[in-house]
Amino acid sequence: MFCPKCGKEYADQVNFCCQCGAAMFTPVRSRKKLERSRTDRKIGGVCGGLGDYLDVDSTIVRLIWVVTVFFGGTGLLAYIIAWIVIPEEPLAEPVKTAAPVSAPQPATNH
Ligand SMILES: [Zn+2]
Repeated sequence: MFCPKCGKEYADQVNFCCQCGAAMFTPVRSRKKLERSRTDRKIGGVCGGLGDYLDVDSTIVRLIWVVTVFFGGTGLLAYIIAWIVIPEEPLAEPVKTAAPVSAPQPATNH
């Protein structure tokens, strides 16, 4: 990684550049949050959001949920509770196009 300010190269991940003091935080992937899906929804997006959260196909979640609704009916109550409790995912922000990064030139001197 390189310092965005002075260009000093670091082999390992560092938080601050020791030469100029610039912050060099690497972008951390935000933790997955349980949210009702806006894109993958049949009723309230609960199954879609849950599937996304658990890395499971939302159809599987939906299938299991439907089965629990038919066998005992607790699934329906759980769905309503989940619908109320689980927040809806925020509206998708317009995708920011990252500035093209020029590939580092190979050193010519030996
Ligand atoms: Zn620096």
